[in-house]
Amino acid sequence: MFIPLAGVLLCVSFVVLFAVFNRIGEGRTRTNIAGESRVLAHAVESGVIRSAQDIIGRLTTLRRQLEYEKDLLRTPQELHRRLKLLIELSPQLREIAVLSAERVVLASSSEEAAGRVAQAVSCLSPSPSMEDGVRFGRAMIGRTLTEPQAPVGVYQLPLCMPFRASSGEPLGWLVAVWNPEALREQFRVPVEQLPVRLALYRYDGSLMAVSPPGGEMVGSSPGVEEPFVSLLKERDWGSFTTWRAGREYLTEYRSTSMFPLVLTLEYDMEAGLARWRMLQQRMGWVLVVIVGTILAATLMLLLMTRRQRQLSDRLQLLGTAISTTANAVIITDDRGQVQWVNRAFTRLTGYDPEQVVGRTPAILNSGRHPQGFFVDLWRTISRGAVWRGEVVNRTRSGDIMIVDQTITPIRDDEGAISHYVAVHEDVTARREAEQKALFLAFHDQLTGLPNRRKLIEKLGEALDAPGEQRVALLYIDLDNFKTVNDTLGHSQGDELLVVTVRRLNAALGEDGCLARLGGDEFAMLLARVTSEEWLAVLAERLIGEVAQPVELNGSRFRLTASIGIALGRARETEAITLLRQADLAMYKAKHDGRNQYRFFDQQMDFLMQRWVALEQGLRLAIETARSLSLRYQPLFDAHTLRPLGLEVLMRWRSDAGEWVPPAEFIPVAEESGLIVELGAWQMDQVMRQLSIWQAQGLEIEHLSLNISSVQLARDDVAGRLLASMARHGIEPRRIVAEITETALMSRSQQVKLNLTALETAGIRVSIDDFGTGYSSLSYLKRLKADYLKIDRSFVVGIGQNRSDEEIIQAMLAMARSLQMKVVAEGVDQEEQLRFLQRAGCDLIQGFLLSKPLDADRTTELLQRAREGLTSMAVLDPDV
Ligand code: C2E
Ligand code: CA
Ligand code: CA
Repeated sequence: MFIPLAGVLLCVSFVVLFAVFNRIGEGRTRTNIAGESRVLAHAVESGVIRSAQDIIGRLTTLRRQLEYEKDLLRTPQELHRRLKLLIELSPQLREIAVLSAERVVLASSSEEAAGRVAQAVSCLSPSPSMEDGVRFGRAMIGRTLTEPQAPVGVYQLPLCMPFRASSGEPLGWLVAVWNPEALREQFRVPVEQLPVRLALYRYDGSLMAVSPPGGEMVGSSPGVEEPFVSLLKERDWGSFTTWRAGREYLTEYRSTSMFPLVLTLEYDMEAGLARWRMLQQRMGWVLVVIVGTILAATLMLLLMTRRQRQLSDRLQLLGTAISTTANAVIITDDRGQVQWVNRAFTRLTGYDPEQVVGRTPAILNSGRHPQGFFVDLWRTISRGAVWRGEVVNRTRSGDIMIVDQTITPIRDDEGAISHYVAVHEDVTARREAEQKALFLAFHDQLTGLPNRRKLIEKLGEALDAPGEQRVALLYIDLDNFKTVNDTLGHSQGDELLVVTVRRLNAALGEDGCLARLGGDEFAMLLARVTSEEWLAVLAERLIGEVAQPVELNGSRFRLTASIGIALGRARETEAITLLRQADLAMYKAKHDGRNQYRFFDQQMDFLMQRWVALEQGLRLAIETARSLSLRYQPLFDAHTLRPLGLEVLMRWRSDAGEWVPPAEFIPVAEESGLIVELGAWQMDQVMRQLSIWQAQGLEIEHLSLNISSVQLARDDVAGRLLASMARHGIEPRRIVAEITETALMSRSQQVKLNLTALETAGIRVSIDDFGTGYSSLSYLKRLKADYLKIDRSFVVGIGQNRSDEEIIQAMLAMARSLQMKVVAEGVDQEEQLRFLQRAGCDLIQGFLLSKPLDADRTTELLQRAREGLTSMAVLDPDV
């Protein structure tokens, strides 16, 4: 604000100064011109007066001679001679003549004039009251008094003086013709040197001479007559200003008191001021240059200050940014002594600025770096290069802090390093997270055990170690964990896993390394194996540990494990091979009935391939629905032995023509999730069949559908079932869902939703394979099942095993108390049937009465039953 103001003020003062200078300068010039004009007019006037006096003096002398020498008039020759002499002595005169009172030339300086009558000379007063004084006549045409014919512009100025006889009688006139050129000659010098115009007037305003000549007619009265005549009345000298054609003229005038003449000096002010004007113009240019320079300088100064302000604003911003940035900033001098730290430094390290300024950053040294580290750092930065790296520091409170540090050397104008700027970013949390991520990349999050990748790495190390030791790998799979997990819910499943891992680790001791390979699969690496016997003992111990019941939320659970063992020798076996072999051995253990261990042998490869082939075949079968079929096994009334219901069973004939038993492909379908699609396909088939029978008047009161726990946990199986029934017009009350105990006890939300939906729709529930699971009898009370199916493994024991018979009786008693009906399955002997009839069993299912039948055979059976026949008319066995 100040700068433009100052600039403008300076400019204004220069302009004002210029104006004042102009005013004063012009005034002074005008005064000078006026003074000069006055002096000049005065000088020219003196010259004119002297000339006039000279002429008058000569005329007076002549008059005297004529008065005293009376004969002179009578001797014209002598008079002429005298006049001639007189004219020779007066160069300003053109002619001198003596005239009679009648204006006849008596004698003249020019010879031819004598005797002629002079023309009308204005100074020859017509009134005879002749005074003796001289009279100035008007200018008149012609060179001489008697020669009126003259070239244009030639004129004469007559001066007349009367003369008388001694008696006083007037005799005539003495006339002198004043040469105007002589007057002009007197005007010449000033006129040539100055822009002036000099003019001589008679008192009445008629012009007598002018130089330089203008358009005025000499002898006439000029336009200026009136003003100066009136001025003359006031003063006999002075000046006035006139304007003509836009030009200013200063007129200086003098009217002599001695003669009736007025001299004017007209000064052309424009011309007079021209020099001054030129100077003024030059000064104007100088002013323009000065003002321009000032304005330019002001503008430049303004721009510079604005730039400076922007720069300083930016610097301030930068300063604020640095001091408030989240990263610690340290500025040291060239020797590494701290000069300045920002707020983040204090926040991160705990040191206040006054505690570190003047000291070196070594106070942050954690001692975690070798000596050479800082030597290298210093070598880099003192060379002028930027150092970047990770430094482990110690804060004031003693905590370790990992920082990502950049140190930049700052050079002064001469290029020498003057400061170092260090920026620290606290990356402790990031590093910890990285380490955690690294840990997780090689470990299982839930149990903290090494994962598959880590195990393979360790296995490789063990197999690469020097020596000829044997390395063993135990592949441990929890048999029923998937079902438990699906039914209990994941958090409970996780808890179960953690407990199991703890037990496995306890059983393992220090000997080996346990890893989690996935869901319920674990592996145990034993780097030095003494004998296979010892491994067998260990495997037994592990199985025993896993089988210990677990209390979770007040309920007891039991897991079992299948273990596969593979043995390899260092520098002979590949890690991956050993892992695959142990895996296969584990499958063998599972296949052989679970809850046991198997050592790997070469034939096991087949088992593996079989599983894979089954899964692929099953997938294809579902897609084409070609090789799948259904069987219906009737359920009979235990006493009348009339068929009361049917259980639907799945059959699959593989593309190779092999009938794969459900006990083999159902687990594959469950494990792979294919059971969901399989079940969906089956439902539609069954419902269509039911509607056909319905149309034939064969009403089925009890149709059992096996529903896997996997279907309950992963599918909207209830909705699917109800939709299928609705499509085919089947009433829900005719359907019984066969569900295992574990599924019924599930806490999984999906399982609960399915069960509730089934119950709401009016579908009855049958507890399948009762007695083989966790069979906690107390659970039964809570379940709203209608049927209880005694598993075939108990039925087999009838007549063989007392405890099985007791168990069956207990089950029946309990079911009765809960108003549940009991089905015995797998009844294939008369003895079994009789026992069950006696014990009060409600329904019988088994090969003794009927094998599973295809749809046509079932139709036959149902028709015969309607006719009152019992099943004892055994039908041909099916599969
Ligand atoms: P389950 O539900 O316990 O079915 C009864 C099994 O016992 C059937 O075997 C049946 O053929 C067999 N069985 C019946 N009476 C006798 C007998 O007197 N002696 C002998 N030795 N066996 C008898 P299957 O059809 O091989 O089915 C085996 C298991 O496969 C079934 O056991 C069931 O758990 C499952 N399964 C079969 N079909 C389906 C199905 O469609 N869906 C589901 N989820 N599972 C099915
Ligand atoms: Ca069943
Ligand atoms: Ca069963």
